[in-house]
Amino acid sequence: MIYDTIIIGAGPAGLTAGIYANRACLNALVFRDKYAVSSQICNTYEVCNYPGFNNISGQELYDNIERHAREIGVKIVDEKVIEITDFNLDVKKVKTKEKVYETKTIILATGANPKKGGFDREDDFVGNGVSYCATCDGAFFKDKEVAVIGGGDVAVEDAIYLSRIAKKVYLLVRKDFLRATKILQEEVKNIENVEIIYSVLVKNIIGENKIESILYKHKDDIILSELTVDGVFVGIGINPNTELLKDKVEMSNSYIVADETCRTSIGGIFAIGDIRKKQLRQVITATSDGANVITSVQKYLLEKYK
Ligand code: NDP
Repeated sequence: MIYDTIIIGAGPAGLTAGIYANRACLNALVFRDKYAVSSQICNTYEVCNYPGFNNISGQELYDNIERHAREIGVKIVDEKVIEITDFNLDVKKVKTKEKVYETKTIILATGANPKKGGFDREDDFVGNGVSYCATCDGAFFKDKEVAVIGGGDVAVEDAIYLSRIAKKVYLLVRKDFLRATKILQEEVKNIENVEIIYSVLVKNIIGENKIESILYKHKDDIILSELTVDGVFVGIGINPNTELLKDKVEMSNSYIVADETCRTSIGGIFAIGDIRKKQLRQVITATSDGANVITSVQKYLLEKYK
C-alpha cells in the first residue's frame, strides 16, 4: 500500500492535517510516538486566545482535537518514526521500529521540546527539583519557594500558575524587560507573591539530595547571589524536533524553511507547526498550517499524478 500522505506527529498541527486529509479523501496516516507526551499544548494550563474558547486547559483543547480526529476516522498509529528514506524519490519510505511505510508525500509535524537552562548541576536535579513543565510538576511545590527562569510567555504563565500553589515565586529574567505579551506582564506584575528579578543568569544549583538554593549573577555584580528555593522551573524557549530531516532539508536557525504553503526544499515533503520557520508559534498557527498543508499536498499530487 502506498499512502497519499504520512503525517509524522500528532500535536494540534498533525491532527489538524489528519482531519483535513480525511475531508479531502486522502489515504493518510498520522504517527504518534507512543512514549512521548502528545504535545506541548498538553503542558499548558490555560489557553485564552484560541477562538471559540476564551478559557480552556491545553489538555482539554488537545483532547477535543484528538476526539474530533478519531470520530471522523483519522487513522492514528502509535509507533515512533525512526527514519525517513528515499525522501527525494516519488515514493518515500517512513520507518518505524515495527514496519516500513510507503507514501507519496510526508508532512513533518514533530513539534518542539523545551530548551535546557544550561546552568551547573541542572541534569543532576531533573525530575527532582528542576522541571520544564509547571503544570506537570507544580503541585510538588505547595507552600514552597520556587524560581522560574525566562521572560517569555511560557515563563510568565508558569510564574502566574505557580503563584497559586507555591508560597513564593521568583521570576529570573535575563534581560531588563519581559518579552511576554503585555496582558501576561500586567498580570504577573500584580501578583503579591511573585518577585521579578531582572538582568540575571542562573549559574549553579546548591544541594545534595534536594535543591537548597541557586546561585545567580546579576549583570552589574562580580560576585554571585544566592536564592533559597526548593524548585527551579525552566521556561526559556523551545528546540524544534527536526532530527528526521537534519542535513537533508533547508533550515534556518534550526527551523525548517517553508512558507505558508508548508512546502520544504524537498518535493513532496512538507513541514507544519513549531518546526517550521515562522513569525508566531501558537496552537492557532499550528492548526492553520495543518489546514494549509493539505491544499499543498493535493496540488502536489495533482501535478505529479494527473
Ligand atoms: P520565548 O522564546 O518567547 O522566550 C524565551 C525567554 O527565555 C526570553 O525571555 C529569553 O530571554 C529567555 N532565555 C532564553 N535563553 C535563556 C537562558 N539561557 N537563560 C535565561 N533566559 C533565557 O520562549 P517561550 O518558551 O516563552 O515561548 C515559546 C513560544 O510559545 C513563543 O512563540 C510563545 O509566544 C509561545 N507561547 C504562547 C502562549 C500564549 O500565547 N498564550 C503561551 C505559551 C507560549 P531574552 O529575552 O534575553 O532572549
